[in-house]
Amino acid sequence: MSTQGHQLDVHTLPVMADNLVHLLACAREAAVVDPGDAAPVLRALEERHLRLRTVLLTHRHADHTIGAGELRRTTGCVVVGPEECAATGLDRVLAAGDEVSCGAHTLRVLATPGHTAGHVAYYCESATSVWTGDALFLAGCGRVLEGSAAQMWQTLGRLRALPAETAVYCGHDYTLDNLEFAASILPDDPAISARLAAVRSSPEARRALTSTMGEECRSNIFLRADEAQVRAALGLRDLDPVAAFAELRRRKDAW
Ligand SMILES: [Zn+2]
Repeated sequence: MSTQGHQLDVHTLPVMADNLVHLLACAREAAVVDPGDAAPVLRALEERHLRLRTVLLTHRHADHTIGAGELRRTTGCVVVGPEECAATGLDRVLAAGDEVSCGAHTLRVLATPGHTAGHVAYYCESATSVWTGDALFLAGCGRVLEGSAAQMWQTLGRLRALPAETAVYCGHDYTLDNLEFAASILPDDPAISARLAAVRSSPEARRALTSTMGEECRSNIFLRADEAQVRAALGLRDLDPVAAFAELRRRKDAW
C-alpha cells in the first residue's frame, strides 16, 4: 500500500518516573511501543478516536511490558515482540528482519542486543522513524545488562547507520542527565554544549522527547566512542572503540 496521504503520527506519553510510551497512528489505526502502563494509552486512544491493533515490545523489562495484557484484554489488539518477552504473552514472536504493519506503514525489526540479550528496535522507513527502547536514548544509551560492550557497540553502529533524518523515539527520558554526563567528559565540545544549553534553557526542547539520528551522531557521546578526542578525554591511547565505549559506559553507570 502507498503511504501517500497516510501520515504516521507519533504521540509520546510519559508514564511513571521517566518511561516513554509511543503511540503510533495512521488514519484511525494505532500501535503502541512499550506500554509500561495501560491507562494513559487507553485514554489517548479514546481522545483521538483510535483503534489499537498492535502492542510492540522492544525487550522484556516490566517497565516496558506491564500494560500489554490489559491493552489486549480491553482492545483485542495483538502483542508482538522478541522471544524474551514470552512471559508477557506474545501473539507473534519477532526476529530481526520481520515486519509489522501500522496502517499504511511497515515497521522492520532490527536486532539491538546488549541491554538485554533479545532486545529489538523498530524501524519505519516510510515514516523515517525508529523506536529504540532501551538500546539508544536521546544523548545516551542503555546499560549493558545482558550483553557485552562489543555487542552494544555493534548495536549502536547498526542504529548509527540509519539515515540522518530518522526520528528517534526511545524508552526513557534521561536526556538532561545524559548531556550533563557527556559535558563532564567533553566540556568544550560544541555539539554537546549547544544541546545541553538548549535542553536546560528551553522547556520546548526539554519536552521534545524526540531527536534525529543526525543529532545523535553529533552530540550522543556513546555514538562517538570511536573518535580520537573521546578516547583522549578518557585517557585511553588504545585505538579500540569497544574499549572506549566500555569505559564510557562504566563511567556513566557510576555517574
Ligand atoms: Zn530495560
